[in-house]
Amino acid sequence: MARFVFITGGVVSSLGKGLASAALGALLQARGFTVRLRKLDPYLNVDPGTMSPFEHGEVFVTDDGAETDLDLGHYERFTGVAARRTDSVSSGRIYSNVLEKERRGDYLGKTIQVIPHVTNEIKDFISIGEDEVDFMLCEIGGTVGDIEGLPFFEAIRQFSHDQPRGQCIFMHLTLLPYLAASGELKTKPTQHSVKELQSIGIAPDILVCRSEHPIPQKEREKIALFCNVRKDAVVPAYDLKSIYEAPLAYHREGLDQAVLDAFNISPAPKPNLDRWYDVADRIENPEGEVKIAIVGKYVQLEDAYKSIREALTHGGMANRVKVAVEWVDAELFEREDPSPHLEGFHAILVPGGFGERGTEGKISAARFARERKIPYLGICLGMQMAVIEAARNVAGVATAGSEEFDHEAGKKRFEPVVYHLKEWIQGNHRVERRSDDDKGGTMRLGAYDATLAGGSRVAGIYGGTAIEERHRHRYEVDIKYREKLEDAGLKFSGMSPDGRLPEIVEWADHPWFIGVQFHPELKSKPFAPHPLFADFVRAAVETSRLV
Ligand code: GLN
Repeated sequence: MARFVFITGGVVSSLGKGLASAALGALLQARGFTVRLRKLDPYLNVDPGTMSPFEHGEVFVTDDGAETDLDLGHYERFTGVAARRTDSVSSGRIYSNVLEKERRGDYLGKTIQVIPHVTNEIKDFISIGEDEVDFMLCEIGGTVGDIEGLPFFEAIRQFSHDQPRGQCIFMHLTLLPYLAASGELKTKPTQHSVKELQSIGIAPDILVCRSEHPIPQKEREKIALFCNVRKDAVVPAYDLKSIYEAPLAYHREGLDQAVLDAFNISPAPKPNLDRWYDVADRIENPEGEVKIAIVGKYVQLEDAYKSIREALTHGGMANRVKVAVEWVDAELFEREDPSPHLEGFHAILVPGGFGERGTEGKISAARFARERKIPYLGICLGMQMAVIEAARNVAGVATAGSEEFDHEAGKKRFEPVVYHLKEWIQGNHRVERRSDDDKGGTMRLGAYDATLAGGSRVAGIYGGTAIEERHRHRYEVDIKYREKLEDAGLKFSGMSPDGRLPEIVEWADHPWFIGVQFHPELKSKPFAPHPLFADFVRAAVETSRLV
């Protein structure tokens, strides 16, 4: 049976709870344990699939097709353990399960209440697959005291009592603000936050204290005394230059040791941190720099493209260069020449997105990259835009466009080179979609196989012709246009196994121009950069040498 670590936050949000959880997962792995990380989000949306990336950041997609919180991306990037649908849940999902059971009569006429029905549903979720790993790390979203969070805190309190003694611990993240006027770190907010936790029956075993300044020993002792934790269980968390330094930094501050001590695991297995030393070395000592433009719509909030940003960093690490990313708003050159906005970059990436806004700008970015022979990576919508560009400007389909942007009935503005797919094959099953399905339900979501053309650039990059990548989209490039586009030079070098759905396109006579219908960024890790990103950055390095 797994040991459980429950991770909560207090004082303020955005303290880096997800990162601390992910780093702890990596450290436990380094000591030879198996781990799984889970996120429990108190918001009422059933999943983040329909939440605006402006507000909530990227939607992370799992192999089994769940649309989840971006923290699951951190978990995967730090541990390499592929997240599943059962690793992310929200209040919305919990309540909707409970209400469904109530309607079905599963509760045999009982009055349905937060305790025990909602809390039981949460506890059931926490324990899914508990016998598969040594440690289950469960992060609770939000901060202690949030109204929506209460059932989750109550559920983890009960859960720890249901388990044998010593099977569960609580780790709480807080902030130590610094008062410049008096030159002091203040511990009071942390004390209040722990009091709040204790008032709902949870006594933290470990306190992780975020601070911009070194925490003197005497302050650590004070926190330990007032918050009722052991001295060496007060772990400082300082700002880092790179998130990938977190495992080593937390190790230096004794986080993994404190966790093993809290579980009475002795002697503690020695950690092997070689992977993280190598990662830190590649980040700290780059041998050059490339400039890459991400041409998108959600450029104000970097979290909207979190995994892409990280995958580019990994690509840089593979080539020992720093990747300087600039976010370029596609709307800036919807109607004008993109050159002033795109000149000077060593590569251009057009990411995924939904809706028409900015798409003409993305199409011009693809054209600019094709004509100037600048490396281009188009992801999902970025691939669709590259195909539309090729159709319009090279293959002679002047009004090529996507059905996604043609919603006005009876008024077709575009020839649908990209069309709305309503049925497809997954494994050995036919999947069908109806327009009145739930929003998320109408998408091709999760891992699908693709077959690469032998001798293509992508087959060389992947080092094989069978791949599996994650999807999240409704629209597809129509193979009706394959011949026309291939004659023009845009090769369909990756297809779904049944040959119906284009997965990858590449320009034959271009140094590096690839569009992919899937999201390779979701599977990239600092210690295993995704081959497409590693090679894209390599191509950018080559461009940088030409100038
Ligand atoms: N909007 C496009 C579609 O649904 C692309 C989606 C994406 O880029 N993730 O097909």
